[in-house]
Amino acid sequence: MKEKRATGKIVVILLIAAFGITLTAYAALNNKDLSVHSPTRPKPVWMSAPERLGQPPRDAIILDASQWAPDGKKTKGDKIKWKVAKDENGIEYMEVVKKTGEIHTKREFGNCQLHIEWKTPAEVKDSGQSRGNSGIFFMGKYEFQILDSYRNPVYADGQAASIYGQVPPLVNVCRGPGRWQSYDVSFLRPIFSPDGKVIRPARITAFHNGIVVHNNYEIRGSTPHKKIASYQPHGEKGPIRLQDHGNPVAFRNIWIRELPEEVPSCYPYIKKPGEK
Ligand code: MG
Repeated sequence: MKEKRATGKIVVILLIAAFGITLTAYAALNNKDLSVHSPTRPKPVWMSAPERLGQPPRDAIILDASQWAPDGKKTKGDKIKWKVAKDENGIEYMEVVKKTGEIHTKREFGNCQLHIEWKTPAEVKDSGQSRGNSGIFFMGKYEFQILDSYRNPVYADGQAASIYGQVPPLVNVCRGPGRWQSYDVSFLRPIFSPDGKVIRPARITAFHNGIVVHNNYEIRGSTPHKKIASYQPHGEKGPIRLQDHGNPVAFRNIWIRELPEEVPSCYPYIKKPGEK
């Protein structure tokens, strides 16, 4: 009788142990073990760093002139009508040719990291919004402004590095006319419910010439001129558009990386006050 009881206990212990091992293995296999310092938590992909800041990393998509198409509304054909040439160092650049229309990437993107270098004309002919105006439209809709804002009095939410019509940059770090400048942007796409409601607004973190100008700013909607921003539902991806505002702004060294939607966390999402 005693032997039977002992055997029964051993069987129960073995069953519990097997159940525990199975659960752990299941969690590891499904990457669900997100507890603090978990050894099975998925590790970031290793990637060699570029030799020089601004150089494209290994997984970047290079957006040279062949990766852009003209705005279908204004020009026909699949080659851009902007000037494409090489500078004194052999680096390709694209330059706006007035009235040839905007250009957009042939590929579409949602969450992304974008590096782009731009230069406004060395000779200053105009003022305000007519001085070196262009812009980068994420998903074809949300404008990150380009302007010669070097000693150029203009409304704050329309100067270089503003989210046009919504928010100025944290600081004005615009270089003088005719000098190359850089933007580095992390963009998080908006998410809409099936009935078109905004579940999550778009967000942007951006550096102008290496300086933070937007720190996780929540974009309020598309960026029309002199209108209140609002969202119109759209898909998960859209093209990057560059604006033809009539000024010969040049672009070079453009690259983009697609970013994942979310990195799994061991902590639950913290809702904002009033958020359901
Ligand atoms: Mg613009």
